[in-house]
Amino acid sequence: MSESDYDVVIVGGGVIGLSVARELKRDGVERVVVLEREGAVGQRSSSRANGGVRAQFSTSINIAFSLYSIEEFERLASAQGDILQFHQTGYLFVTGSERGEALLRGSLELQRSVGCDAEWLTPPQVLERAPIVRPAGLRGGTWHARDGFLDPHGVVEVMKREARNLGAELRLNSEVRALDRTPGGFVVTTDRYDLRARFVVNAAGADARHIGGMLDVDVPVRPIRRNLAFARAPDHPAELIPMCVDFDTGVLVRREVGGGYLIAYSNPADEPGWETTVDPRFLDDVAERIGNRFPLVSEVPIDPRHCWAGLYPETEDHHAIVGGGKVDGFVQCVGFGGHGIMHSPAAGRAVAELIARGECRSFDLHPLRLERFAQGDLTVESAVL
Ligand SMILES: Cc1cc2nc3c(=O)[nH]c(=O)nc-3n(C[C@H](O)[C@H](O)[C@H](O)COP(=O)(O)OP(=O)(O)OC[C@H]3O[C@@H](n4cnc5c(N)ncnc54)[C@H](O)[C@@H]3O)c2cc1C
Repeated sequence: MSESDYDVVIVGGGVIGLSVARELKRDGVERVVVLEREGAVGQRSSSRANGGVRAQFSTSINIAFSLYSIEEFERLASAQGDILQFHQTGYLFVTGSERGEALLRGSLELQRSVGCDAEWLTPPQVLERAPIVRPAGLRGGTWHARDGFLDPHGVVEVMKREARNLGAELRLNSEVRALDRTPGGFVVTTDRYDLRARFVVNAAGADARHIGGMLDVDVPVRPIRRNLAFARAPDHPAELIPMCVDFDTGVLVRREVGGGYLIAYSNPADEPGWETTVDPRFLDDVAERIGNRFPLVSEVPIDPRHCWAGLYPETEDHHAIVGGGKVDGFVQCVGFGGHGIMHSPAAGRAVAELIARGECRSFDLHPLRLERFAQGDLTVESAVL
């Protein structure tokens, strides 16, 4: 084997590509390299995230990815010290509508049936955990104590560190320009050199479709701008509260470590695009909705200088694409939308098993297969934030 021959080339050094590298090495795959076009890893979507981690989804596969990942984050947090900053504050989805209650209770039943210990809270129980919630008309909400938030940069750092320590290579400033099939695998052409690989993993985040196109594989991942705002609130208490989601408006509020609030809202009407400056409409959207359940937070002024935006690598059904397809050896691990940080451990595990063992035993990847789009067989995740 020459210096430029690899078992696996991973395109993209975000949290997903790094996790795939780490898991491949844990499964004993010999020559693994991550190619990242930027001068550092984790600088794209992975650097913009809120860091939310939750098992409260509406489909079995998303719940399964979360339960696996939460356990891994708990293990990493105790083994690696403070770097992850994993605060298991819980997620609290609250509602004041009959429809909201029906949907939340439906998801709760599914969550509990697959081993997630989420529970229904009455209005007084909600207020006890999150005094910032407006009680008028509140019907209650769902709660899972092992949910919470962590530092996305910490996750990137841990994945990078472990992948490297286990022997994976990281090559920065390496933009993949072409992929070509050969009898034994692929030639990977970058802007600076060529490599050969038996397997190529597409972990290019919002650029996944472009990478797929290099081998004539349509990978329907679209970039969607998402925004976050920080509001300083020196007069408010600083203790952490759960990640609070107003299920009726889609507004999410959590308290930041050290005080203040982080506020998110994803307008479902937003069109795909590559813009990553803060959308001025985001602030209007938040202003219109935040008072519904968080009147105290609505009074705290948002400083536009403390807002930021990034891209969700999104799919039509809000599920990732994980697995092979018509080109043997070309594996997708893309389309994680707003849950790529929290699902990175499970994503890496799934791809490592596919490559190292020929099949994934930890998860049933059927709902994440690429072919579902062409087959029109989509199950839509409804707990999208
Ligand atoms: C505002 C916001 C809030 C979010 N909040 C959360 C949250 O609370 N919880 C959560 O779990 N997730 C959250 N997310 C989503 C999460 O950030 C993403 O799902 C995740 O980062 C995707 O990781 P990735 O590795 O697929 O993509 P990226 O981090 O974008 O990595 C892909 C990498 O591929 C590289 N690349 C692309 N093309 C090439 C090429 N041709 N050659 C070489 N390299 C290439 C890019 O430079 C990039 O570094 C949020 C995202 C945003 C924008």
